[in-house]
Amino acid sequence: ATPTALMVGTGRGAKMGILIKNGEVLEAVNDVKTVIFDKTGTITVGKPQVTDIIGDEAQVLKVAASLEESSEHPLATAILARAKAGNVPLVEVTDFKAIEGKGVAAQLAGQKGVVGNHKLLATFKINDQLAQQETRLQNEAKTVVFVGLDDRIIGLIAIQDVAKKTSATAIADLRARGLKTVMLTGDNQRVAEAVAKQVGIDEVIADVLPGDKAAHVAAFQKTGKVAFVGDGINDAPALTTADVGIAMGSGTDIAIDAGGIVLVKNDLRDVDKALALSKKTFNRIK
Ligand code: ADP
Ligand code: MG
Repeated sequence: ATPTALMVGTGRGAKMGILIKNGEVLEAVNDVKTVIFDKTGTITVGKPQVTDIIGDEAQVLKVAASLEESSEHPLATAILARAKAGNVPLVEVTDFKAIEGKGVAAQLAGQKGVVGNHKLLATFKINDQLAQQETRLQNEAKTVVFVGLDDRIIGLIAIQDVAKKTSATAIADLRARGLKTVMLTGDNQRVAEAVAKQVGIDEVIADVLPGDKAAHVAAFQKTGKVAFVGDGINDAPALTTADVGIAMGSGTDIAIDAGGIVLVKNDLRDVDKALALSKKTFNRIK
C-alpha cells in the first residue's frame, strides 16, 4: 500500500479505538488464518467472583484468603473480596510462594497451607466426593481451587468469571470470515470447554503453563498467519510471537507494549473491525 493509504488506514483505526502501531501490522492482519484468544480478561470480563465454597466455609475462607493476600492473581482478588464481605479474619503467613499456573503456598500457624489446582496438589488424596463436586462445578464453567493444610484438603472454592457480552458475536464474525478460532488458557480443560461452548470457539487448548503459550502460537503458524489476543503479563511472549499481537487496552502494560494492535475499548468485535480495515487498506491499491 502507499504511505498515504497506510496513514488513512491507521488513522481510521485510531478513530474507532483500534491503535495500530505500524503499517506492517495492518498488512499482516489481511492474511491471518487463525485467531487465538487468551481466556481470562480477554474472552471473559476478568473479574471472577466466588460462587461456591465446599467445606467449613469460615475456615476454608480464612486459610485461602490469608494465603492469597500476597498474590495479585484475579482468583486471589475474588477470594479476598469474599473473605472481606464475610468479615473473615485473616492470619499472618510466612514463606509465601506463588507457583505459576498452579497456585500459592505458605506457612500459616505452623502448618503448610496451599491454594491451587491439581498440579499443585499432586501429593494430596482427593476423595471421590470432592472429585465429583469439582467435576460438577467445572462443567458449570467455574474454576475450582482446593485449599489444603499440611497434607489434608479442607475444602474447595469455585470461582466464576463470566464471558463479556460481545465475545460470542465477535467470534461468530471471525468464523463467518472463514477464520479458525482457538482458546489458549492456563485454566482447566472442563472450564475452558464450558466457556468455549458459551462463545462458540472452535478449539480449546487448556492447562497451558504461562511459559508455553508462545510455543502453541508457533505451532499454529505452520498452517498460516496467526493473531493472538491477550491481556496478561503471561501473554506477552505469545503476543510477540504471533504475526499479529492484539492487546486489550485494559491489559497489563507489558501486554500493551508487546501488542502490535491495542483495542482501546476492550471489545473483541474490534478484532473483526481491524480485519475489515486491513482488507480495505490493502485491497484498494492491489
Ligand atoms: P490464565 O491463562 O487463564 O490467565 P493462569 O496461568 O494465570 O491462567 O492460571 C492457571 C491456573 O493456575 C488457574 O486456573 C488456577 O487453577 C491456578 N492458579 C494460578 N494462580 C493461582 C492463585 N493465586 N490461587 C489459586 N490458584 C491459582
Ligand atoms: Mg488473561
